[in-house]
Amino acid sequence: MGQSIFVPKEVDVTEGRVAISPETVKRLAGLGFDIVVEKNAGEQSRIVDSEFEKAGAKIGKASDASKADVVLKLRRPTPAEVKTYKKGALVLASMDPYGNEGDVAAMAAAGVTAFAMEFMPRITRAQSMDVLSSQANLAGYRAVIDAAAEYDRALPMMMTAAGTVPAAKVFVMGAGVAGLQAIATARRLGAVVTATDVRAAAGEQVQSLGAKFIMTEALKDASGDGGYARELTDEEKKAQAELVAEHIAKQDIVITTALIPGRPAPRLVSTDMVKSMKPGSIIVDLAVERGGNVEGAKAGEVVTTANGVKIVGHLNVPGRVAASASLLYAKNLYTFLETMVDKEKKELAVDMEDELVKATMLTHDGKVVHPNFVDTVKPVAKAAAPRKAPARKAPARKPAAKAAAGAATKKTAAQKTAAKPAGASSAADKPAAAKSGGES
Ligand code: NAD
Repeated sequence: MGQSIFVPKEVDVTEGRVAISPETVKRLAGLGFDIVVEKNAGEQSRIVDSEFEKAGAKIGKASDASKADVVLKLRRPTPAEVKTYKKGALVLASMDPYGNEGDVAAMAAAGVTAFAMEFMPRITRAQSMDVLSSQANLAGYRAVIDAAAEYDRALPMMMTAAGTVPAAKVFVMGAGVAGLQAIATARRLGAVVTATDVRAAAGEQVQSLGAKFIMTEALKDASGDGGYARELTDEEKKAQAELVAEHIAKQDIVITTALIPGRPAPRLVSTDMVKSMKPGSIIVDLAVERGGNVEGAKAGEVVTTANGVKIVGHLNVPGRVAASASLLYAKNLYTFLETMVDKEKKELAVDMEDELVKATMLTHDGKVVHPNFVDTVKPVAKAAAPRKAPARKAPARKPAAKAAAGAATKKTAAQKTAAKPAGASSAADKPAAAKSGGES
């Protein structure tokens, strides 16, 4: 086809992931694309340039972006980057557009067709394109590894001639994709695992992974739209806090993953609860970028409290497993791009009526086209505020992400609704999600 793909090295130095793999180079070449990967783009994901070359890519430089018909990325391009792209180029990335409307305007002004991968509908057809799931899965795994590394005791029970080491007690709060993988990982390491969620449906999934599900009688089920959680009422919050307070004091490791679409992360662990834990206990707050589930958690830091509890608040947790995360992310992007290729003519053919395209397309033909941004993004001349320095954070999917950075961004009701990926999962989709969170 002669159409070309460019994959830059991420300009954010804290981002170690890369949006292409040798496997997807081969597949994309099979679709007829010429592929150029920027020198050292895969370095931190342990993919050396020669591997990309062996798979059929050329190694190039940042300025090669100007010739590409498609640019594949992890993070939203900066206005400076997007200015170098060809007009009409397709750009696939985790765009984190809420609160970054100036950058969205810059993409429109550059005339690129930008797709926000995190808005991919959670429907069966798009499961293999779901960057939120692929990355949350690895984040859940890594949270347990990080906890184990900070914990100065063993996780499994060990019966030795010199005595018995008791198994660590791990409590996972929030049993979505990340939480289920955290449960599975902690179980594999031999911990005794309990978990809670506000969606009753999560109970069965937790139990199927060999963990005990803890839920208060007062809280029957707080499932919201599309399989996501709704915010609890004050009464429900109180009942949940009572349950957690009693349980948490006996735990060695707590991993929190709770999120609510369009809201800041719910506060689940108070300072008093942290105080009730034994010295040497570990809390990993995976929601820290969205305001945090744990009082006292600090984004990007490991805090040790006066009573010797460590609260781990790493940012970009999937990026801490960069080599694995890149392979899955690259595959997610490939699978979506494949749907936008006419295989007979071997050329790009974007179907503007496709629900996946509609849900993810942010800008096209010089305009902002996503319904949640049409009214909020000002044309680039008016939105010329300098872009803030790239924060070290994972691709966010919800406006609440801004809570972590303390950004006071006013949101419309439409934005809030769109905070969860459009076309969020139907009941029929959930078993597969459980699978992806648990054992994949
Ligand atoms: P999420 O990241 O929005 O939230 C993480 C978890 O936190 C959720 O399980 C949520 O119920 C829980 N939570 C929220 N408030 C809480 C509180 N106060 N206390 C305890 N837990 C709380 O969720 P997710 O991982 O994106 O998964 C959401 C749903 O989407 C699940 O039902 C999942 O099975 C489904 N899903 C479907 C697909 C698909 O169909 N393709 C893919 C992935 C996930």
